[in-house]
Amino acid sequence: MDPEVKNRPSTLAEKILRNHLYHKKSELPERGRYATFRPDRVAMQDATAQMAVLQFMNAGKQSTSVPTSIHCDHLICAKCGVEKDLPEAMKTNKEVYDFLGSAAARYGMDFWKPGAGIIHQIVLENYAFPGGMMVGTDSHTPNAGGLGMLAIGVGGADAVDVMTGMEWELKVPKIIGVHLTGELGGWASPKDVILKLAGILTVKGGTNAIIEYFGPGAESISCTGKATICNMGAEVGATCSVFPFDEKMAQYLEATGRAKEAAKARANSADLQADPEVLAEPEKYYDRVIDINLSELEPYVNGPFTPDAACPLSQMQSRVTENDFPADVEVSLIGSCTNSSYQDLARAAAVARAALDLGLEPKAKLIVNPGSERIKATAERDGILATLREAGAVIMTNACGPCIGQWKRQTDDNTRRNSIVTSFNRNFAKRADGNPNTHAFIVSPAVAVAFAFSGRFEIPAGLNAPEGPELPPEGFATCDSGMTSPKPGSPEPVISQSSERLQKLKPFEPWNGEDFIDLPLLIKVKGKCTTDHISMAGPWLKYRGHLQNISENLLLGAVDAFTGESGPVAPRAKELGQSIIVAEDNYGEGSSREHAAMEPRFLGVKVVLAKSFARIHETNLKKQGVLALTFADPLCYNRILSGDRITIRCAKIAPGHSLAVELRHADGSRETIYATHTYNEQQIAWFRAGSALNSLCRQ
Ligand code: SF4
Repeated sequence: MDPEVKNRPSTLAEKILRNHLYHKKSELPERGRYATFRPDRVAMQDATAQMAVLQFMNAGKQSTSVPTSIHCDHLICAKCGVEKDLPEAMKTNKEVYDFLGSAAARYGMDFWKPGAGIIHQIVLENYAFPGGMMVGTDSHTPNAGGLGMLAIGVGGADAVDVMTGMEWELKVPKIIGVHLTGELGGWASPKDVILKLAGILTVKGGTNAIIEYFGPGAESISCTGKATICNMGAEVGATCSVFPFDEKMAQYLEATGRAKEAAKARANSADLQADPEVLAEPEKYYDRVIDINLSELEPYVNGPFTPDAACPLSQMQSRVTENDFPADVEVSLIGSCTNSSYQDLARAAAVARAALDLGLEPKAKLIVNPGSERIKATAERDGILATLREAGAVIMTNACGPCIGQWKRQTDDNTRRNSIVTSFNRNFAKRADGNPNTHAFIVSPAVAVAFAFSGRFEIPAGLNAPEGPELPPEGFATCDSGMTSPKPGSPEPVISQSSERLQKLKPFEPWNGEDFIDLPLLIKVKGKCTTDHISMAGPWLKYRGHLQNISENLLLGAVDAFTGESGPVAPRAKELGQSIIVAEDNYGEGSSREHAAMEPRFLGVKVVLAKSFARIHETNLKKQGVLALTFADPLCYNRILSGDRITIRCAKIAPGHSLAVELRHADGSRETIYATHTYNEQQIAWFRAGSALNSLCRQ
């Protein structure tokens, strides 16, 4: 390595990465090169934990090598409110909860029962710490960056690497510096920082990058506000986001019972910031620097259908008219892992109180998903939930609910074009209620409540900007956290042969080392194809532990470039036996779910050839033994025709070398194009072995 690079001042992200290198004496490679790390902990939510635990069980270990937690939050359907929904979920998902609970007890993991809270809120309240590094089997794991932690969303197979104590590999990301000045005021909130940034960076702008915030404005934002901003870094494709340690973090640690962590961080404060040289000349050390003056920030309304369609509130009415968006807001959703802090709920309730005092009546339905039992108990004690109920709010379980499509929305007409607003983080078509006619817009919780009262995309006249304390003035309420610690000596989890929801995994076949000859085209996907399109959530969530059953949803949401339609793809995949998928840009963006990689593998897909990949999904494909290739010239996507047979000359695959792709068109004509890849030696070993897990088991 160039000694100048080695000795140069470091950004905060570089310091944390360096501290977590797997081989302590190694150096952090330059950005863009692979390195291996040893994260401090793993967190898994119930939908992804099933497959991760099934893989871990095949690795033959007695217990996890690092502290690990499982959180039951994704499988609970929001319908009538917590009182009815939670017992219903306990019944419906009993088999899965029993499996995860027994696996946690057996292998040494903390188990957070259904209703205890949402993974990222629980991690922030209990586990995250400044300067730490963790992975989580969920794309919003970066939420913990609000407490100065490098927290990265990964697929289950990556989590298994960390849980088994193996080296966990990551391409050292670029670092985007976001310089914050000024102070938030009026209706502007931390949410609006990331909504504005999403408009600047777009859904792809953070790909393979860490977003590192710095500057005087950063210190003015509450710890939980910082978490909101880091959470939604996933919406611009960032590997993760991080804030430097400050007093707001220390106060949050103390308020959540972690005074020792706060004292430790204060004592090491200099190591939990970028070096002074970096702050003095950021352009020299960050790959890109973006300035945001918080004092000038106004509330944003982002959407519909994509989180980067950013619009300042002052321009929203004309945008609605110009685009013919449904002008009435029918539902306001607040809470989720992104925005259910005490400050968020207190500000939302302050808006509701002021509106009620003005004599206004809510015109939209208000739905609240608190992030944890601790937040809920505190908001209940302090009258926050009572105020929201007075405004007509239904309090759902402390769980994901509508944010992951687990929402039995009651509507009079499913075919009517309609608008909803949400303080959640994603707004892809059909994500919340499964209805393509729903236009979902992302806003802060306070703005969501204001819109509920106007029933439109505007704040009612006379309603002033709300106040809301960052932390509960009387401290957090004490309550049953809902966590069970592991029990040494617990028995192996049992999986019934006849189960429809859980299935033991059979290792995938190794690659035979030969070229893939004449692969039939399974589908040429047109346009945006997120992991939601590849492996839908909603009703399919229940099959996340059963690879055969969930594979039936393969690419159900993807648009076929030749027909312009979406529909079942799995039957054709089974008929073909082996095949190839062709796709456009940022294929697999969105959630980290590895099912989107395991399903095609299970159904015989050998190769995915795309214009570009989302980072986590590309790694997931590699881990599951599917060859992830990129068009050397993205225009060659247009050369793929209906009925093509495609040969991939991969027998001599090597790092950095492109591969020939021979097309045999239905009319008999042939042509050759080229594909590139990002496989390193280790990843090629995974591909040879049939999967990363096969490779691990061989060692
Ligand atoms: S983003 Fe939504 S689905 Fe994901 S963890 Fe947060 S609340 Fe749950």
